[in-house]
Amino acid sequence: EAKESGRNAYRFYRQEMQQQITERALLEKALHSAISKDEFYLVYQPQVSEYGQLIGFEALIRWFNEELGLVPPNRFIPVAEEVGLIDEIGNWVLESVCHQLKEWQDLGLPPTFKGVGINISPYQFAKECFVETVYGVIERTQVDPSLLDLEITEGMLVENITSVAEKMWRLKEHNIRFSIDDFGTGYSSLRYLQHFPITQLKIDQSFVRDLTSDPQSHVIINTIVSMAAHMKLSVLAEGVEHQEEKEILNNIGCLKYQGYYFAKPVNVGMATHYLSSAITFPLQPQKA
Ligand code: C2E
Ligand code: MG
Ligand code: MG
Ligand code: MG
Repeated sequence: EAKESGRNAYRFYRQEMQQQITERALLEKALHSAISKDEFYLVYQPQVSEYGQLIGFEALIRWFNEELGLVPPNRFIPVAEEVGLIDEIGNWVLESVCHQLKEWQDLGLPPTFKGVGINISPYQFAKECFVETVYGVIERTQVDPSLLDLEITEGMLVENITSVAEKMWRLKEHNIRFSIDDFGTGYSSLRYLQHFPITQLKIDQSFVRDLTSDPQSHVIINTIVSMAAHMKLSVLAEGVEHQEEKEILNNIGCLKYQGYYFAKPVNVGMATHYLSSAITFPLQPQKA
């Protein structure tokens, strides 16, 4: 009987494996034609000041495929990186955001609005031509480059310091800004940071999630905030889901936020509405 159940477990395991391989193959195949089939689109999540004013958006990619449905970026971005499609996808994102930003720019941006965060994959950034690609998009779209806030990760900074720093400084010459995404989860020491023209740290949402329950997270955020102040860096907390979290962050001295408490990512139409209507976030004032 033990043998029998062992065999069953094994068969189950094989089926499971097989299914995963098939799914992955399907995803990879669909990913190859996703751009030409126009299956990607962007959503924009508001970034807000301590008074709830709209200070920016983060552009987030979405992929809808007929067979696979809506595939989250955490599932397909790693595949795109692995099979060499991330460059093309990343350039599509860059181009789309800049086109959109130029439209918003022409409509007139609210004075509090500083620009749009764009996630840049390390593979995309590592390309020899990355700087030229960005310049090209700026040329074509005539977007104000100071509205671009390129989000990179800590891991990127510890590899190839000189070439990464050189590229960043060249982009910085055109007033492009850089944020460190998911800050606190990598291993970049303060010493690393000072080599790079960084303007903002985005505190990873895992720290915010544990803020009310875990004193350790409170300490970590406190440390990040005071260190950022010393280095004259802006800090923004990600994944703020509750008013209480916002209050604690505010007391610590973190004055910029992004998260479901304020607003979820929205489509272009709604984002345009947010930009043109001087509203503050959260939209419905919540009872304390
Ligand atoms: P990220 O850059 O750290 O983006 C923040 C993620 O947190 C987004 O997930 C956003 O929808 C989600 N989020 C925002 N507020 C909250 C909240 O209050 N609670 C919770 N639980 N989540 C919140 P999304 O859109 O699924 O993106 C996941 C990741 O995929 C991003 O993490 C980023 O690393 C990557 N990604 C998204 N768009 C792009 C892109 O255009 N290019 C590249 N290379 N990566 C992208
Ligand atoms: Mg990001
Ligand atoms: Mg993040
Ligand atoms: Mg992330």
